[in-house]
Amino acid sequence: MPTELAYLSDFDSAYLRQFRARVVGRPPGAIVLDRTYFYPTGGGQPSDLGWLRRPTGEALPIREVYRQGGVVFHRYRGSPQVAGGFVPGTEVEGSIDWDRRYAHMRLHTGQHLLSGLIFARTGRRTVRARLESPNATIELDAPLSPSGAPALQDEFDRIARENRPLRIRHLPRSEWDRDRTGRASGIELAAAVDPVRIIEIDGLDSCPCGGTHVRSVAEVAPAAVAARSETGDRWGLSLSARPPTTRPG
Ligand SMILES: [Zn+2]
Repeated sequence: MPTELAYLSDFDSAYLRQFRARVVGRPPGAIVLDRTYFYPTGGGQPSDLGWLRRPTGEALPIREVYRQGGVVFHRYRGSPQVAGGFVPGTEVEGSIDWDRRYAHMRLHTGQHLLSGLIFARTGRRTVRARLESPNATIELDAPLSPSGAPALQDEFDRIARENRPLRIRHLPRSEWDRDRTGRASGIELAAAVDPVRIIEIDGLDSCPCGGTHVRSVAEVAPAAVAARSETGDRWGLSLSARPPTTRPG
C-alpha cells in the first residue's frame, strides 16, 4: 500500500516537525509507516533525517528516507534490540530534524524564485535543480553571462521584500502539457505524474514540484545569487542563516 505523503497537502503541513503514525511494514533495516512527514530523497532535494519513537520512549535515529513504488522507507541505524520493538501495528511518534528541513524549504522556494526570475528576464529554462544545504544549484538550457548576477540579486531581494504570495495548485496532466510557454521549468515529468502539483509564485512562475517549501517568499532571504560556472550555464543560491521568525504550526 502506498505511504501517505502527509507533508504535501498544503504549505502548513511542511512545517510540522512531530507527527504520529503507525508501523505497517518492516523491510530489512527500514520502517514503513501508514503516513509520513519525512521528505524522501527526490527531485534534487535530499531526504529529511530525524527520529521515530515508541510510546515506551525507545527511539531509532532515521538516517535516510527514500521512496520506491509509492512506499516510503525510513532507514534507521540502531540496535537490533530497540528496532525489534517497532513491530507492525505499533503507534510511533516521528520527529524531523528541523534545521535541515527548514533549510531545504527555504532553498527549494528560493530555487523556484531564481529559476522564475532568470526565465522572466532571459527566457532560459531550468533543466535540473539540486539542493545541497546551504546551496541550491540550477542548470539552464542555455548559458547566461555571469555579469548579470547583480541585477538578478537586486530583483531577487525586491521580490523577497514584497513577499510575493505562493500557491499550491493541482492541474490535470493534459492541462500542464498543453501550454508551457511562460514557464521557467524545462524539467521533464515522468509519464505517470497526474495530476501535477504546481508551486506558483504570484506573477512570476509555475513549477511542477513535490518538494517542501516555505509559506512566504520573505522567509527565503537573505540569500546570495551567483553564477556557478564560467560559461554561465549553472547558477546558484546560497542561504545565509536567519533567525527562525516563523514557528512550525
Ligand atoms: Zn519545489
